[in-house]
Amino acid sequence: MLLFTPGPTPIPESIRQAMAIPTLHHRTKEFESYFEFCRIKLIELMNMQDVLMLASSGSGAMEASIRTFCKKPLCINSGKFGERFVKIAKVYNMPFVEILNDWDTAPNSDEIANILKQDNEIDSICIQMCESAGGLRHNVESIAKVAKEINKDIVIIVDAITALGVEEIDTTNIDVLIGGSQKAFMLPPGMAIIGLSGLALDLIDKNDIGFYFNLKTELKNQRKNTTAWTSPTTIIIGLAKYFEIANIKDIYKETKQRAIATRESLKSLNLKIYPKNPALAMTTIYNEDSLKIRKILKEKYYVNIAGGQDKLKDSIFRINHMGIIPINEALWVVNAIELTLNDLNIRKFDGNASKVFLENYFKQG
Ligand SMILES: *Cc1c(COP(=O)(O)O)cnc(C)c1O
Repeated sequence: MLLFTPGPTPIPESIRQAMAIPTLHHRTKEFESYFEFCRIKLIELMNMQDVLMLASSGSGAMEASIRTFCKKPLCINSGKFGERFVKIAKVYNMPFVEILNDWDTAPNSDEIANILKQDNEIDSICIQMCESAGGLRHNVESIAKVAKEINKDIVIIVDAITALGVEEIDTTNIDVLIGGSQKAFMLPPGMAIIGLSGLALDLIDKNDIGFYFNLKTELKNQRKNTTAWTSPTTIIIGLAKYFEIANIKDIYKETKQRAIATRESLKSLNLKIYPKNPALAMTTIYNEDSLKIRKILKEKYYVNIAGGQDKLKDSIFRINHMGIIPINEALWVVNAIELTLNDLNIRKFDGNASKVFLENYFKQG
């Protein structure tokens, strides 16, 4: 079965082998050297001042960030993950402002500028880089720039769980950049990553908040290449292997080639791309037969892609582009979709999906 869901992603053999070594204790020099290597590589990848690795899924880092950095956040909600920031603020009885949109629609920076100018209590913005609910790319870079021009101390918190390791991120105006192990890093679920700016580091020092997710305690320990609590050792050893095998520049380039080739290929089958501004992490198709398409893909062609969530559960399907993916596998996915449309008498098979995929893939290469 080909696993093509936008997280979790398949783990490469070499990473699985690396993680198979006998258990290392987390308070040893040997483990600390893995930790230090990952810290250096993550800081370099994110181009930020510091980084934290937390034993938790991505949502733990979202919760820790809201608690540590926000008094009144502006939450951008264009899907399940944007909604999650809102839910966290509510749990802590924190005042917030929400921009609620359809899942295919991103707010623009003018709209956000107006809100910030009208409400000077807003001290932070919580936004996804890629809102995975609909595969929507938010224009984080321009929003962050405009927000900082209005208030230089505003904290820009970006859930980049489906953007980190997918594309080069301009972190000039980003203060908190959240990643997760189970997406583009091709690791098991269970570790969150937080990249930090100078402003974020000042706030961590001032705001000594929480217990398990106390970022001040974590930072103090992690700067000594250890963690406050037991480290997710296996995942960190896997991450070290990822940095050994991954040529990041090639991954960015190939991910983009795959994403565009897939998008064009499926458009040539008259399928409709769902988001108005698609992200590179996944291709999302709006189709009322999504449930049937996914069932045939899985049972007949051994391809596992994701459906939607909530209101879009059975009306979209999502194909992953994150990680290192052999081109023949990506090609098989679009071909299998074309075969499936033929099986459902929606469109007669003529091999166009493969043809358009390959034309577009190599055109960019
Ligand atoms: C996968 C994902 C998360 C992480 O959610 P967890 O289940 O807590 O790991 C957060 N944000 C986005 C945009 C995601 O795609």
